[in-house]
Amino acid sequence: MTDSILIVGAGVAGLHAAMECANAGAHAIVVEQGPVVGGKLAATMTNATAIGGRSEGDSVPMFAALADNENIEIITLANLEDIEGRPGSFAVSIRERARFVTDACTRCKLCRAACPVVRPNEFDAGLTYRKAIYAPMAETLPGEWVIDIQSCLNTPPNYLPCNRCVDVCDDDAIHFDMALDTVHRHAVGAVILAPGFRIADNTSFGELGYGSHPDILMSAELQRLLESPGPTGGYASKPSNENYPDSVLLVLDDVSP
Ligand code: SF4
Ligand code: SF4
Repeated sequence: MTDSILIVGAGVAGLHAAMECANAGAHAIVVEQGPVVGGKLAATMTNATAIGGRSEGDSVPMFAALADNENIEIITLANLEDIEGRPGSFAVSIRERARFVTDACTRCKLCRAACPVVRPNEFDAGLTYRKAIYAPMAETLPGEWVIDIQSCLNTPPNYLPCNRCVDVCDDDAIHFDMALDTVHRHAVGAVILAPGFRIADNTSFGELGYGSHPDILMSAELQRLLESPGPTGGYASKPSNENYPDSVLLVLDDVSP
């Protein structure tokens, strides 16, 4: 029986499972479909107040512990494609999509100014914007930036040949000639499913006024405003004019069918 354990999902639950497995001596393989670990709470994990007064510039303790643990292998931009076998002996195939940015990236941000494509930043609850080449947050694991290839001008249906980010990257970290997909095959003894949760479709909140005014927020957006690495530095100012609200009305609504 192999001592490898596959963990599907690198949210808080998946990462803690990986740490427990690794500390018990197993080889933990973590598969995450997004570009960085942390899932919906990735931003919260970098929140200084949430982890006890971490100084700016210090590494995020959880990220450092994961990166330093030789028993943990993290594969981002990846999905579990196939699994066969039985408890104690599974053969799994993991398909990893290209990041197009290597670990030579120094997070210098030069490509951000050069990229003409603007998209809402999902990791800031859509409250800020990012480029097609981006870092979802100030601190991430892995640390290198990523290209959202679906938005990049080099990809159909957008196709307009573009090399702006490559031209400004002094570290030669951007490579469009990467294989689009890489398949990893592993033998694992157990599988832990930690797919996380999904935030409700915001169209469910139309009757509460969501979408009619920028100061009507979902809880995920309010949470991001209150986090120190968030778009307002942790101050709950109004998205419409950046002033502080005189009062806040919290509405708890059951959107389950
Ligand atoms: S990809 Fe290159 S230009 Fe962009 S942040 Fe990384 S090192 Fe800087
Ligand atoms: S190649 Fe893609 S990611 Fe790079 S600058 Fe152009 S649009 Fe942005």
